[in-house]
Amino acid sequence: MAISNKAAPDPPDLSGFPHVIIVGGGFGGLEVARGLANKKVRVTIIDRHNFHTFLPLLYQVATAMLEPAEVAYPIRTVFGKALNVRFRHGQVRHVDHGRRVVVLGDGTELDYDHLVIATGATAAFFGIPGASQHAIPLYSLADARRLRNRLLSALEKADAVAETAPVGLNFVIVGGGPTGVETSGALSELIKTVIKRDGLRLDPTRVRVILVDMAPRLLTPFPEKASAYALKELERMGVEVEFGRSVVEVEENAIRFADGERLRVAAVIWAAGVTAAGTLASDVQEKTGPGGRVRVTPLLQIEGQTNAWAVGDSAAIPTGENGFYPQLAPVAMQSGRHVAQQILRQADGKPPLPFKFHNKGIMATIGRHAAVATLPRGLTVKGTMGWLAWLGLHLWYLVGFRNKLRVMINWTWRYFDWPSGPRLIVADAETAD
Ligand SMILES: Cc1cc2nc3c(=O)[nH]c(=O)nc-3n(C[C@H](O)[C@H](O)[C@H](O)COP(=O)(O)OP(=O)(O)OC[C@H]3O[C@@H](n4cnc5c(N)ncnc54)[C@H](O)[C@@H]3O)c2cc1C
Repeated sequence: MAISNKAAPDPPDLSGFPHVIIVGGGFGGLEVARGLANKKVRVTIIDRHNFHTFLPLLYQVATAMLEPAEVAYPIRTVFGKALNVRFRHGQVRHVDHGRRVVVLGDGTELDYDHLVIATGATAAFFGIPGASQHAIPLYSLADARRLRNRLLSALEKADAVAETAPVGLNFVIVGGGPTGVETSGALSELIKTVIKRDGLRLDPTRVRVILVDMAPRLLTPFPEKASAYALKELERMGVEVEFGRSVVEVEENAIRFADGERLRVAAVIWAAGVTAAGTLASDVQEKTGPGGRVRVTPLLQIEGQTNAWAVGDSAAIPTGENGFYPQLAPVAMQSGRHVAQQILRQADGKPPLPFKFHNKGIMATIGRHAAVATLPRGLTVKGTMGWLAWLGLHLWYLVGFRNKLRVMINWTWRYFDWPSGPRLIVADAETAD
């Protein structure tokens, strides 16, 4: 294929425009940049990855249903046509509000007129000994790849000794929220597939998928009938669900519970919660809010600042009723859009307006054909209808036309049959995050 030798068009002279730095190209950061694209501002998005990750589908990468490239998209490509938006690959280590600069990992300083913190959150291990070393969280593409390697390797090892020394395998998922429910359903389907389609010589009754939670029910943000439905579906798929279990230690090949039980495990999947503590949020503000999130005003300005904002999972956004909005994609996207509008209002000399969240509901899948969706006013849709709603919404928000198409084809295929998914053991990523 011929490579065009046409030079890229000269960037327009934007030097007189205010410079907006957005740290993080996740759901929130992308929406800020989209709202500022082709407007009278200079925008720099900085991310430690050169791609946006669609976190809600990571569990499908981990369970070999989708390829990593189907849930990630280069940030440069998203803004290829917006001449006022630049991407900078790097990790921001420090923010100096006084001098209005951000400092990157290599010491480079970039100055800003407006700063938007959109750095998300990370897995919370609650100080449980061994959890951060031995359990695998699901918060990045590298995590998903690591987990896929671990799961497939454990199944292959068990197959290798199946005739001489058959072993039982325990996979434990900690946390019965949407990520734990989705992952355990998908893992149970993966196990059935490798036994039925790939001919692994494993006794299905000795390969256990165990979902544990301290709470007395699954999917606590959902209504009780949605939790009961998720439990019924998971149990139908062979997942063992154990409530009221609290983990006290994770070892390399075992997990220990508060009641003294120690269980040998092939993998512990950590879906127990998220925190912004230890992320850039802790550097942006001396005294952070709940879950280490940046305290923001109802306008989404960082408390004490007028030109620095925080959105999405990194921000503790007040609901106005003594609470904070949950760390979910719709909150991140709407807060991102709001901040873009307020920056433009300020540039026009208008005062910023308070953030208003429009709740469109929450949803989770349970296996191949079932999902629960709770819509505003408590209406719950489940089963195939819920699954179709989940499918449509995720396709709609997945970034990149090629990704939408490939994922749609994969899902449609899988609805009728179970194809040979990307069940590849590829060496772990060089970088841990
Ligand atoms: C496994 C999983 C499943 C989920 N499922 C759902 C779901 O089904 N529905 C739903 O609504 N929500 C879901 N969520 C939550 C949802 O994904 C988050 O609420 C959303 O991603 C938050 O967007 P954000 O932009 O705040 O942060 P993120 O999307 O996490 O993006 C943060 C970005 O900042 C970058 N970054 C972080 N620190 C730095 C730094 N110092 N320097 C440079 N770059 C940095 C990161 O690389 C990342 O690209 C899920 C989350 C996970 C982990």
